[in-house]
Amino acid sequence: MNGHRSHLLALLLGLLAVLRSPAAEVRVLTTLPVIYSWAANVAGDAATVESLLPANVGPHDFQFRPSDLRKLAAADVVLMNGLGVDTWLTRAVTRGASKPSRRVITVTDGLQQQLIHHLTPLAMDSKTSGSKKSHPDHSHDHGEDDANPHVWLDPVFAQHCVSNIVQALCQADPTHAEGYNRRGASYLQELDQLDTQIRSSLKGLTNRKIVTFHDAFPYFCRRYDLELVGVVEEVPSVDPSPKYLAQLSQAIRKQQVRMIFSEPQFHPRLIQRLASDLSIGVAELDVLETGSASRTFYIDGLRRNLRTLESALR
Ligand SMILES: [Zn+2]
Repeated sequence: MNGHRSHLLALLLGLLAVLRSPAAEVRVLTTLPVIYSWAANVAGDAATVESLLPANVGPHDFQFRPSDLRKLAAADVVLMNGLGVDTWLTRAVTRGASKPSRRVITVTDGLQQQLIHHLTPLAMDSKTSGSKKSHPDHSHDHGEDDANPHVWLDPVFAQHCVSNIVQALCQADPTHAEGYNRRGASYLQELDQLDTQIRSSLKGLTNRKIVTFHDAFPYFCRRYDLELVGVVEEVPSVDPSPKYLAQLSQAIRKQQVRMIFSEPQFHPRLIQRLASDLSIGVAELDVLETGSASRTFYIDGLRRNLRTLESALR
């Protein structure tokens, strides 16, 4: 009886191995750590997901190295954000060794109609502000095609990106489509719950005006009805001029902004000084552009930001 059973078990295991092994696992390569996080949740054990960005390097500072070409050459599916933030990948893909079957997917595809195409202007009194200021000629690697690329900070947009990832993996690896769809659906549900949680936690706040370091939060603020009064970096990646800082300070006073948010990746000395000059508070919001890629990176990051906002804007 027992012998029979173990025999059957061995047979089943053998069959499973045959079913599983022959096709090599699909290899997925991602640019931003948030995309890694999304893809890892969808992939489960059915595909290998690898991140291009090292944990301590953000997308703006990233230099594509020859060793990265190896990862690129091995990838079946490449997932990128697009909107200028990871253009270095497009360049490498067109230059690099090409795998004929490789698919390059821009996860933000389909969001075009909902993108924001201007930099956050200093939200000053309309009578005093020259509206022409809102569109400086910026040379930021963020905004080559002019849309703000920080869609990932809005969990509703993240759901759109995750759906694109599910579709891409199903097409690249139809054998495992059922699993991709199932894990995708359950992750989408988690993102939906996160959205509900943020919405309800922020709903009651009376203090809704914020200033951030760089222009990463317009989608988040639009989604949850916060008012982004201004950003410290007038032109992304460039130190703000004294004149701009004076205008920002004026707007902060006038609009009674009580909190200014720095980022973990940026030396906050400038922000500390600004805040102490204006006697307002400082806290840190993570733009989730840098960090070690993990399955929980995205949801953990947004939850952390939510806790920060809750206590800072109370
Ligand atoms: Zn950014």
